[in-house]
Amino acid sequence: MKTIGMIGGMSWESTLEYYRIVNQAVKASLGGLHSAKCLLYSVDFEEIEALQHRNQWAEAARMLAGAAQSLEKGGADFVIICTNTMHKVAEAVEQGVSIPLLHIADATAEKIKAAGMQKIALLGTRFTMEEDFYKGRLVKSFGLDVLVPSESEMDVVHNVIYQELCLGRIESASRQKYLNVIDRLVAGGAEGVILGCTEIGLLVRQADTRVPLFDTTEIHAKAAVEFALS
Ligand code: GLU
Repeated sequence: MKTIGMIGGMSWESTLEYYRIVNQAVKASLGGLHSAKCLLYSVDFEEIEALQHRNQWAEAARMLAGAAQSLEKGGADFVIICTNTMHKVAEAVEQGVSIPLLHIADATAEKIKAAGMQKIALLGTRFTMEEDFYKGRLVKSFGLDVLVPSESEMDVVHNVIYQELCLGRIESASRQKYLNVIDRLVAGGAEGVILGCTEIGLLVRQADTRVPLFDTTEIHAKAAVEFALS
């Protein structure tokens, strides 16, 4: 089994989910007392969030590349960045180490393609919903049609992530707001919805809606286990 290097803490609420899922997935594959071999480098999210919102991505890239280097030195065989948004600096992280990086958008796009879907809605932070590093990758590398919320809906989706979910607050009023956004995107032709922020799965679950959800936390963590066991 390969050792998974996890760059986490963004937020730690979702990193807990990664830790749970990688261990459950290894146990499901190997049985008995088996659990995931992994290293976690957990950052202080307040520092990262400040860099994001001040547009200091080069500094954020240096921090995460440094984390990846620590994981490599510690014995990780590959790394995952446990957040969608910080894949904005995935290239810098990848270049900073000699072990592979498993990209969250690639793992997610492969699942969508396997489900035979073409038109997909994307929910996440504004960075993820608007920028090329994520939305563009789904379009250009995987040929998907990606629908994103309207300007005002994006504000709601983004603010709930930073002001509630990353602080461990799960509010049913916010769940309803997300479900309304999902309904509107489905009315616009979306065949499924990417929960493109690693905390959204804490708020909206498959049981809440009939439209297929692609939870990036679960997909990414399971892809890491599949790679670790390959
Ligand atoms: N975990 C979130 C994501 O998947 C947002 C937190 C962050 O900005 O990294 O995008």
